[in-house]
Amino acid sequence: MKIPDLKGGELLPLVESFYTIQGEGYNTGKAAYFIRLGGCDVGCSWCDVKESWNPSLHPPVSYIKIIEDAIASGSRSIVITGGEPLSYPLDKLCKALKDNGFEIFLETSGSKPVSGIFDWICLSPKKKKPPLNNIYPLASELKVIIEKEEDFLWAETNRKRVNEKCRLYLQPEWSRREIILPAIISYVKSNPAWSISLQTHKYINIP
Ligand code: SF4
Repeated sequence: MKIPDLKGGELLPLVESFYTIQGEGYNTGKAAYFIRLGGCDVGCSWCDVKESWNPSLHPPVSYIKIIEDAIASGSRSIVITGGEPLSYPLDKLCKALKDNGFEIFLETSGSKPVSGIFDWICLSPKKKKPPLNNIYPLASELKVIIEKEEDFLWAETNRKRVNEKCRLYLQPEWSRREIILPAIISYVKSNPAWSISLQTHKYINIP
């Protein structure tokens, strides 16, 4: 994966940005402006944003321009997602967002070092490229995608590493949701520290 010169985070490869409703995890139902950055080398087979993987397909955009568009949206909350957004230094972007009064939510696999400041970190660990150690104590929310029953073990392995206040979610992999949901429901009933996260934006057909 070729990463362009991004001048220490002054430029970021922007795939898309849009104002919508957060569909999954703890902040489900909240209005939020999404900033999707390109570049991810994790390679999940079921990834629904494969077009984001190659950062060179997404021209670098000034973080100032990203923030101007966020302000114009009228949103007060930002979701920084990808791709893997921690592929880039996010300090400049986050500081400027905070200076403009936004609350910032991060969606990450945790496979790159943390940069930036966030009000909420959603850690979604992937077996193909597990999280680095430093993200676990920072995670506000652990969201594990369940594709097969063996993924419950992966969920518990990660649960042992997050802080005790971290919210715990199991989310069905979208293409297998009808097959795997009964097992998730049964698991959560037996292990009520976990909750179910559904990709509600897909059910109501919004981005
Ligand atoms: S970590 Fe996220 S963006 Fe990267 S391949 Fe997996 S699902 Fe896609």
